[in-house]
Amino acid sequence: DGRVVVVGGGLAGARVCSALRRKGLTGPIDVVAAETHLPYDRPPLSKDVLLGTRDATPLPFDVEKLDVTFHPGRRATGVSPEAHVLHTDAGDMAYDGLVIATGAGPVRLPGTGEQLTLRTIEDALAVRARLVPGSRVVIVGASWIGAEVATAALARGCRVTCVEYDETPLARTLGDQVARHLRPWWSDVDLRCRLAVQEVSDEGVVLADGQVLPADLVVVGIGVKPVIGWLDGSGIATGRGILTDERCRTGAPGVIAVGDVAERWSPRAGAHLLIEHWDDAGAAATTAAAALLQGDDAPAYDAVPYFWSDQFGHKVQYVGRHSADDDVAVTTDDDGNLATAEWRSADGSRTAWLGVDRPKEVVKARVSIGQPALAPTTS
Ligand code: FAD
Repeated sequence: DGRVVVVGGGLAGARVCSALRRKGLTGPIDVVAAETHLPYDRPPLSKDVLLGTRDATPLPFDVEKLDVTFHPGRRATGVSPEAHVLHTDAGDMAYDGLVIATGAGPVRLPGTGEQLTLRTIEDALAVRARLVPGSRVVIVGASWIGAEVATAALARGCRVTCVEYDETPLARTLGDQVARHLRPWWSDVDLRCRLAVQEVSDEGVVLADGQVLPADLVVVGIGVKPVIGWLDGSGIATGRGILTDERCRTGAPGVIAVGDVAERWSPRAGAHLLIEHWDDAGAAATTAAAALLQGDDAPAYDAVPYFWSDQFGHKVQYVGRHSADDDVAVTTDDDGNLATAEWRSADGSRTAWLGVDRPKEVVKARVSIGQPALAPTTS
């Protein structure tokens, strides 16, 4: 067996290592990990860790059992695919197979004022330490992360303001018809929509019209970008992320990419998709490992995307992928609260489903997506 080098010690990197061993790889595996921790889970960072119920979120990853050499605090700086060499800040490493799993990094705002983002365990502990009763927290972005930070900040007794560019939180992702049902959840937050932020200054958040929102803590949740800058000059094709086929393979021989960094071809969608969800990063790792060991014989990975968010005491789960012109039908519970939303394309087939506090319905909904449309009923 040849040497496999995995770049990135997050969820996708960890899962690829397990899958390679499960599939019988006996040769050496090296993991080059910029962080100094063993792989850990990120979804609980903005939930349990901020709420104070957990201080660490390790993933199952036994270095000895997996027989991997873990290089914490080491950063990949480039690749020479023809020579099969990875460049790192601690020297070059030859590889037979290379797994790129460098994830994504938060987008930041301009300005010299302090702004915290949420990607690492250090980030989460730093935010948590500042969520003290009465402190003025300004969150930029009423996104999934923004909603989870707001939830924790309220629970810890902070005064929470959130600035959002769109008309309603999550309107861009879910469409206004669904998103407006979630707006009442923000009732304890001073939510300011349709506002553009110019920068973060020492006083707080500066809006485009010059107004300043004073803050003791500014948390920015305005999206992430795949970590691909270190591949410049390598010839590995990128779009927003690293472009791969449906088996996680880049165009370079022996080089695969998986997780938040990868923009994988989806035969179902007829497009490259940057999915950026926990479920996909973990599940596609099995395909990535198979592709490295079996090439074309590996099964393609094109599952219906799934993600969840825990916010304001609710669990939101979404499966599928809708487009802006799909029809959406909303159901509510007896109290008029959003229960489900279901999107259908023009031919009547279900493209996406969202449930609020309905974990038992998710699997069925996921299975039904992408199935042929039901024959129209005759009456
Ligand atoms: P990552 O977990 O980001 O791991 C990438 C690793 O690569 C990092 O450790 C990084 O330091 C390292 N790295 C980067 N560059 C280099 C380099 N040059 N050399 C070496 N190492 C490098 N998803 C959901 O579906 N539901 C949720 O509720 C949810 N909540 C989330 C909450 C938070 C706070 C965050 C940050 C993410 C959340 N996600 C959620 C997304 C989910 O965690 C990600 O999809 C998943 O972590 C992606 O795994 P990954 O291995 O691709 O990337």
